[in-house]
Amino acid sequence: MVKKDTNLPKDLFNRYGLSPQKSLGQNFLTDSQILSRISSAADLDPEDNILEIGPGLGALTKQLAPYVKRIVAIEIDDRLFPILKDQLVGYENVELVHADILKMEPADFFDSAYKVIANVPYYITGAILRHILSSNLKPAIMVLTVQQEVAERLAAHPGQMSILSTTVQMYAKVEVLFKIKAGAFWPRPDVDSAVVLLSLYEKSIVHSADEQAFIRLVKLGFSQKRKQLQNNLRALGYSRQELMSHLAQVGIDGRRRAETLSVEEWLDIYHALS
Ligand code: SAM
Repeated sequence: MVKKDTNLPKDLFNRYGLSPQKSLGQNFLTDSQILSRISSAADLDPEDNILEIGPGLGALTKQLAPYVKRIVAIEIDDRLFPILKDQLVGYENVELVHADILKMEPADFFDSAYKVIANVPYYITGAILRHILSSNLKPAIMVLTVQQEVAERLAAHPGQMSILSTTVQMYAKVEVLFKIKAGAFWPRPDVDSAVVLLSLYEKSIVHSADEQAFIRLVKLGFSQKRKQLQNNLRALGYSRQELMSHLAQVGIDGRRRAETLSVEEWLDIYHALS
């Protein structure tokens, strides 16, 4: 007879008299093979320091803990702490922190290299990426489970770029590793997911620019999706002719649309207009 796994999310919630909170993006992974593939994707080392965002019921945390030095797991939902503490008994290298990830700085927990691993609460995927990638102490890699459509947008190539892909790819190489069917989660989300690996560059591609000013420029370029650069960037105070000529100096045709530009081309535009 196959023994029933009583640590499945649904059973745990029942046992503790709780229910998942949709508004916190609570969809828990139930498939142990996928948890193990996520752990392998992070290429773990006994010296690794891990920041886990949203440990939930601790399924991924337990998977990672035997292979690393230290895990700081930040969870916003205090109702889950009794479950988390019970599930993680004996894992001395795990520190549970009750907090909102968006209000915490990685430097509060680490003073050297660390990796971020998370089955991300989907309602704040963009905010988490912005928060971690712009922090003073950036991770070496991020292994993130996100909505499949977001994974594809993150890894987009020129032709399909967006503000999201441009402002993430300035910091990291993005690879979509594998897909996860919605049925691998409980409760089952409406859409499939995918695991992405972000490998951060030692120096952001735009380190020669003021990062915030660069991001403002990119946002302006995308402000009206259908419009050409020569129109969107005129809000900077240039005439159409001046813009066309500045862009031409760095080999960029002002009639192009923002979605066609690589991060490197944006950097050329930044310097041409600074
Ligand atoms: N890691 C678990 C798993 O893989 O099954 C749970 C993942 S679930 C998609 C997202 C988790 O993030 C939930 O436990 C949720 O409560 C937590 N969470 C949501 N918003 C958060 C925030 N701002 N800061 C920290 N944790 C958050």
